[in-house]
Amino acid sequence: MGLQERKQKIFYRKTKKGNILKIVREHYLRDDVWCGLDGCGACEGDKRPLDMLTTSDSTLMTEPHHLIIDTNVALHQIDVLSHDSITNVIILQTVITEVKHRSLPVYKRLRDLLDTHNKKFYVFTNEHHSDCYVEREEKESVNDRNDRAIRIATWWYKHHFRMNNQNVVLITNDIDNRDKARQLEVEAYTMHEYISSLQNAPGLLDIVAQVEEEKEEDVTYQGYIFPSHWSMEKIKLSLKSGKLYQGVFKTSRNNFLEANVMIEGFDKPVLIQGRLNINRALHDDVVAVQIFPKEQWSAPSAVVIDQEKQEAETGGNDDEKADEEAMKKEQELLAAGKGDGECQPTGCVVGVIRRKWRQFCGIIRKNEITDSTRHLFIPADKKIPFIRIETRQAESLYNKRLIVAIDSWPRNSRNPKGHFVRVIGTIGDKDAENEVILLEHDCPHTKFSESVLNCLPKLPWVITEKDEDEREDLRHIDVCSVDPIGCTDIDDALHCRLLPSGNYEVGVHIADVSHFIRPGTALDKEAQNRSTTVYLTNRRIDMVPDLLSSNLCSLRGSVDRFAFSVIWEMTPQAEVLSARFCKSIIKSRGELSYEQAQQRIDDPAMKDDLTESLRNLNMLAKQIKTKRIENGALVLASMEVKFHIDPDNDTVIDIVAKQHLETMSMVEEFMLLANVTAAETTLQHFPDCALLRRHPAPPPSNFEPLLAAAKSQNITLDVSSNKTLANSLNKSTREDNPFFNSMLRIMTTRCMMQAVYFCSGTLEPEEYSHYGLATPTYTHFTSPIRRYADIIVHRLLAVIIEAERTYPELLDPKKLSDLSQHINYRHKMAQYAGRGSSEITAIASLKGKVSEFMSYVLFLHKNAIQVLVPTIGQQLTLYLDNRHKRKEEKQAPKQEAMDVDEVPAPEFEFNEKELYVQCGELIIRPFDELRVQASVDASDVQHQRVVCRLVEPVIPGFSVPPLEKGSKQADKDEKQKDKPVEGPKDEKTAVALQVSEEKETKKKRETKDKERKKKKMKK
Ligand SMILES: [Zn+2]
Repeated sequence: MGLQERKQKIFYRKTKKGNILKIVREHYLRDDVWCGLDGCGACEGDKRPLDMLTTSDSTLMTEPHHLIIDTNVALHQIDVLSHDSITNVIILQTVITEVKHRSLPVYKRLRDLLDTHNKKFYVFTNEHHSDCYVEREEKESVNDRNDRAIRIATWWYKHHFRMNNQNVVLITNDIDNRDKARQLEVEAYTMHEYISSLQNAPGLLDIVAQVEEEKEEDVTYQGYIFPSHWSMEKIKLSLKSGKLYQGVFKTSRNNFLEANVMIEGFDKPVLIQGRLNINRALHDDVVAVQIFPKEQWSAPSAVVIDQEKQEAETGGNDDEKADEEAMKKEQELLAAGKGDGECQPTGCVVGVIRRKWRQFCGIIRKNEITDSTRHLFIPADKKIPFIRIETRQAESLYNKRLIVAIDSWPRNSRNPKGHFVRVIGTIGDKDAENEVILLEHDCPHTKFSESVLNCLPKLPWVITEKDEDEREDLRHIDVCSVDPIGCTDIDDALHCRLLPSGNYEVGVHIADVSHFIRPGTALDKEAQNRSTTVYLTNRRIDMVPDLLSSNLCSLRGSVDRFAFSVIWEMTPQAEVLSARFCKSIIKSRGELSYEQAQQRIDDPAMKDDLTESLRNLNMLAKQIKTKRIENGALVLASMEVKFHIDPDNDTVIDIVAKQHLETMSMVEEFMLLANVTAAETTLQHFPDCALLRRHPAPPPSNFEPLLAAAKSQNITLDVSSNKTLANSLNKSTREDNPFFNSMLRIMTTRCMMQAVYFCSGTLEPEEYSHYGLATPTYTHFTSPIRRYADIIVHRLLAVIIEAERTYPELLDPKKLSDLSQHINYRHKMAQYAGRGSSEITAIASLKGKVSEFMSYVLFLHKNAIQVLVPTIGQQLTLYLDNRHKRKEEKQAPKQEAMDVDEVPAPEFEFNEKELYVQCGELIIRPFDELRVQASVDASDVQHQRVVCRLVEPVIPGFSVPPLEKGSKQADKDEKQKDKPVEGPKDEKTAVALQVSEEKETKKKRETKDKERKKKKMKK
């Protein structure tokens, strides 16, 4: 028994140099490959997951049967295969090998199914089975050979199973393959045929991917909408000859009918305009682009076009005629919105080289034709086109958030086709909304697995004598932490003491997370995969389990904790004389909030050691900051607000601008210094494998919108270096607009590149620098609880001070470089998720009422003005197009339905060159103050869209009257405030939003108090 036959396969391969290489591969055939059926008398083996079946649920196959699938079914129908009602499936080795080769995500899901006990999936190694192995015939393609191998294996199973009264059915969507299988007298059906025949699997048909239908339609249907894609061969040849270019397709944020393709070596991206030129490319696809002759180049469109708004207006019927009309309207819209800015290379997509198809969260739109199974799915990501799905359970899905996968995009369909995967939850439900954000941003958020939790230290955790021998004991020093109120994951603490020499010793102590997370363990792998903690407005998704993040690694007061310390000697002028790193044990004297620390510093009566040390830290930090800014560091601004959320019913109680205290920049300065010191030290010892963080200088073209906006206010900014930019930002203030400078900084922030991690060995030292912080080298060391990069930096430093041994991956530049890419991706996605979460929270706070805000003009378009509303930290779109406006007015609550129809609609004129919008005498420029009203469009229960209206300046026939003072807005109640969730403190250059907004809040509170008093009086 066992090895039966040894076959030699001989290949000839041509090497790059032109030599012919002979490769001999031995292929072993065995006769001890088991069928996997539990209870089969003919086979042995301990893995027998397949059940001995007694019944069948299928009307097509009445005998008890197991499923065998071909490769394409595995690739495209993995959602069906994952469904609970599909069990007892035989996965042939031919299939799993091909799947692994063609799609790693599907392969991973298939492996998960094989590991799931009750799915009863079994891998049959047919390629090593003496009765199932087939040689490739002359002139037979690899695909055809594999299809034949699958049919032969099915045939073998049918005969082998017969003695146990079992049967098998081959599921293939390839009609040719199905018919050839039937010639062998084995049962074969397409997925659709088979699933339709099941009697007890309602809803399963919805999940069947719509791949097979495409073929049939293509033959009969003549009305193609899209040009065909070029063949891959033709694309490859044309890329080589320079006729085509390859790049990543990015849909415009403002206009779903426009996209950019970044091409290496081009200064400007290639512009793609209109559905036909986009030719079925999706955001993030890698596409082949043909560039038009120069006379056909065009400028980016000057209008905001929102897919959802557009579809809502075209009626939303889902048939070919509606398609045609909608496409015509889109063309008109694009033509009308033609921008008169600078032309840039323009072209069209001729083929998709690599699809970035994934699963999408969203909602389905009600089809106006009742009983129709065809529905449009609206993805949450605005850059993704609506997806056509078929479902028989639409009624129950209308108020749900769901997941849909794209299957295909045939030439005759305006929208891609997809299938329903699963329901996430009810619209508006907090958990469902969070889930959508996390899924959309690819943030791992499942509970930590058993194997991860097993890596944690057992409680009670005690410090051993060995630990004390290996660490510096700093428990006698007055260390404390300074954080936002309610912070539970404290990863940094500080101290400062006067030395006899008159100099200062300053220490930054960081949670020693790498002590608990050993390289290569399940815990390490999980933390690495997550890479960062994700902060949503009402939830935190930790990178490491709670026991570490909020307990053993959290540098809480009055308990012994392990730290990784950096200790400097500084002159009273904050000149650093020396720096050293050590592993230590600390005992924090207190977990202070920023406010508490500030109070201690400001109170002259407080003279204790801890307060003195805070005062010295603050004194040194101010000097460090001054030097940093002299060097050209930028002080940027972002729209950060804090939401106070009622924990009981999850509604927003209040939104406040983030306050700025001296103690915040005190902590920030020392974190920055610790990070710079860590960067310098690791780079010095490991020039090729230090993990650093760089912030590239933005290319000059990035500054164009900022410069144009500043120019419209007669302000000239010098963007030639970070230093000149910082200087001109400091000088640019306006007395009549106290928010002007912050706005300018917010706009500057938007011109910046992303800061990224990288491995020092992969770049030239000139490229290491950090533009925003104006330092030649930088890294992250101070937040290992919430950032994986910091853990790597800790490990490198531990090797340098000989506290730990190294391991091979740590010093492998290629591995480190791959890891930085991964961390960069997760980091960016986590940031977007955080922003998405604030947006949803802000929108929720506007629901069911009309709110009035001061806003500032950010961007101007032909049909819209984008304004920034500091009070809620959001950007809103004020459409100038009256057609939209009237529609909204009709749906708006009675109260504010002004009869605007009597006044003729005003004409808005957009001057793109000088950047202003004119309406009669009135001119609106960037940074101008507009008073606006915002409310949530109540007409669509599924989707919350903010409707923005102008209040001031007054434009007859367009603007709405102001709200009565103290009416709608003042109904907020001061309630218990929740704990804020905050990210790391370094490299965060937020500036508080000041003056006018604070006044506004204050005013509101006063009115509220008056009202309360009135109420009391009445009682
Ligand atoms: Zn058997």
